[in-house]
Amino acid sequence: MKCFIHMDVEAISVCKKCGKAMCAECSAYSNHTGICPECRCVEFIAEKNRLLKENKELKKERCWNIFWAIVTAITIIGLFINIYRFVSNGKTIERNEERIQLLTKEIDKLSISMVNKGNAFV
Ligand SMILES: [Zn+2]
Ligand SMILES: [Zn+2]
Repeated sequence: MKCFIHMDVEAISVCKKCGKAMCAECSAYSNHTGICPECRCVEFIAEKNRLLKENKELKKERCWNIFWAIVTAITIIGLFINIYRFVSNGKTIERNEERIQLLTKEIDKLSISMVNKGNAFV
């Protein structure tokens, strides 16, 4: 039996997949795993296509990674800005309320003295 690729060379084994006879050189091509160069080529094409598809998906995912990183960064910045504003607004409200209480007392005091003089403005 001759090798199906090298027609003049004696075959040493048959391919596990397609059953075609192959010579020592052809067998060595796939490290004597019993796969002929033709079947090997089919496997390589399948693997290449799988990797091309995988890379296409990964590249698409990387675009989404950038998008979500930006969205997350903006969200975190917004979180800190709002926490800061919440605290600082609370301090301003407290300060304003103290002043309002003081002003109310002063207004009441002045109103009473104005009423006593018959000159109320409130
Ligand atoms: Zn084969
Ligand atoms: Zn051969």
